[in-house]
Amino acid sequence: MIGVKPLVSTEVLPSVAGRVPAAEQPVLRLDDLTRVYGARTVVAIRLWAVAAGQHSLILGPSGSGKTTVLHLIAGLLRPSRGSVRVAAQELGALTPAQLDAFRGRTIGIVLQRLHLIPALTVRDNLRLARTLARLPPDPARIDTLIADLGLAALAGARPSRLSQGEAQRVAIARAVVNRPALILADEPTSALDDANCDAVFTLLRAQAEASGATLVIATHDPRLQPLLQHRLELPAQP
Ligand code: ADP
Repeated sequence: MIGVKPLVSTEVLPSVAGRVPAAEQPVLRLDDLTRVYGARTVVAIRLWAVAAGQHSLILGPSGSGKTTVLHLIAGLLRPSRGSVRVAAQELGALTPAQLDAFRGRTIGIVLQRLHLIPALTVRDNLRLARTLARLPPDPARIDTLIADLGLAALAGARPSRLSQGEAQRVAIARAVVNRPALILADEPTSALDDANCDAVFTLLRAQAEASGATLVIATHDPRLQPLLQHRLELPAQP
């Protein structure tokens, strides 16, 4: 088991989540979260909680389970045991269709592979994120994001025309377009030089804050480690 020490702020939370007002609920809470592949336990987290606005890191060497934890938090993977609560919602209580809708509205995701839809323009990739979450169109929100992320000249372009950095900015825009409570990013800076590492982290944080979201970054990039103090440290796998 991973002995993750809870923060003082999480230690005072009552154990029955329903009794605390929504504003005091952690935006993320993992309890006894376990994922097993065959006979191997690749994730075992006793307790980790993230308060709203408490941007955080999930750290660990390659193979330690960071991507698995992010996928569990996003509800893309089901735990073998234990629970994930996002904005007080226990993901395990949702049907697959409810989980898809909940994820679309509440969790923004920037994965290592960006998963932009190649046949759609930049603007239509952002529109699709709202449609999939069953949210009404919001062209003003999309235009503002496109402008804020310096993508105005590329709004009508397809992803194959974008540089890697531009495509990553579109993926960040897509992650925040629905004003999620939580943004998950998987190794967003590992492949970047120092200047771009700094630019992408600053952009992610600024966009998270402008959208009212809390950022959780999984990374083994040592450059990010001094930047956020709240963290979950995963040990190397045997
Ligand atoms: P990280 O993101 O820290 O590099 P991962 O979460 O990708 O780590 O992987 C953690 C461990 O789980 C690795 O040993 C990996 O091989 C294993 N693993 C991940 N996905 C699967 C799977 N679908 N089946 C079996 N083992 C897996």
